[in-house]
Amino acid sequence: MSKKKENKKNTRREFLQQSALLAAATTSAGFLLNACKNEEASSGEKVNVLTQDGAVVEVNKSQLKACPQGANRKESRKGIAGRKFVMLIDLSKCKNARKCVESCQEMHHLPTHMEYLKVYLMKDSKNTAAYWMPKPCFHCDNPPCVSLCPVGATFKRSDGIVLIDNKICIGCKFCMTGCPYSARIFNWAKHDSANDGAEYSPETGHPRVHGTVSKCDFCPEMARKGVLPSCVTACPNGVIYYGDFNEDAVSNGEEVVRFSEMIKNKGGYQYADELGTEPSVYYLPPVDRIFPVENGLDNIPDGIDISIDA
Ligand code: SF4
Repeated sequence: MSKKKENKKNTRREFLQQSALLAAATTSAGFLLNACKNEEASSGEKVNVLTQDGAVVEVNKSQLKACPQGANRKESRKGIAGRKFVMLIDLSKCKNARKCVESCQEMHHLPTHMEYLKVYLMKDSKNTAAYWMPKPCFHCDNPPCVSLCPVGATFKRSDGIVLIDNKICIGCKFCMTGCPYSARIFNWAKHDSANDGAEYSPETGHPRVHGTVSKCDFCPEMARKGVLPSCVTACPNGVIYYGDFNEDAVSNGEEVVRFSEMIKNKGGYQYADELGTEPSVYYLPPVDRIFPVENGLDNIPDGIDISIDA
């Protein structure tokens, strides 16, 4: 290994050791590797995950796929003690690879027409360049969806995560109309291949309940096990970081960074925060982009309007 590479590795290791590190990392590496093992044969595809001691380790994707054992309905209402989960999305790196969307759909057993995480083609003004914007639920600290729910089906946990108990949801859609970010979707379809007899958990929304509302859940059952959300590890461009606001550390699976420094040094912001919703998702602006927007035009799903004229 070259001296430069060795130094870089050491620097990163020191940072990892100094940082209290990713909040979600509550398990040992050994447990992590076995936490979500399923019986399906390995495809050989590898992903990076973060361990409790701060190491980024490579594991078979099949070991992480479909980890549906969320907490029961009562436990799901409690957050993970001491944690405040945040997401940071670097718009300068996104080229609409859509691996985040695909992995989320696989993880949550969603049909292709249902996306908890969407990637939008954005253009802020006539004279600025277009860019790609992944958009999950923002897990707002002041969530209008929660205050509008007439039956208490949707709730905000102590760790910042907003979930839905689909066993209580009556499908009135008040929360959908109240969300200014269109983060929620309705389970219209009755056919649900995910109804496999698993015990329902609000932490996974699995099995989905027909006639109720769903959305991005920040993968809390994976956080309990010290695993980054699947959208984070699936992204080939390191766009999405996830971690703990309290510990000031977030990771994209490749690197662990200081959340506050990224926000301060790179002009981080919350989308439409003037609404007073206080999103837990932050963005870094699409400046000095690594990929021109044209690189993502081949990945547009059928039926999506790609007009970017101002
Ligand atoms: Fe609720 Fe929408 Fe905020 Fe998510 S983005 S917490 S659904 S208001």
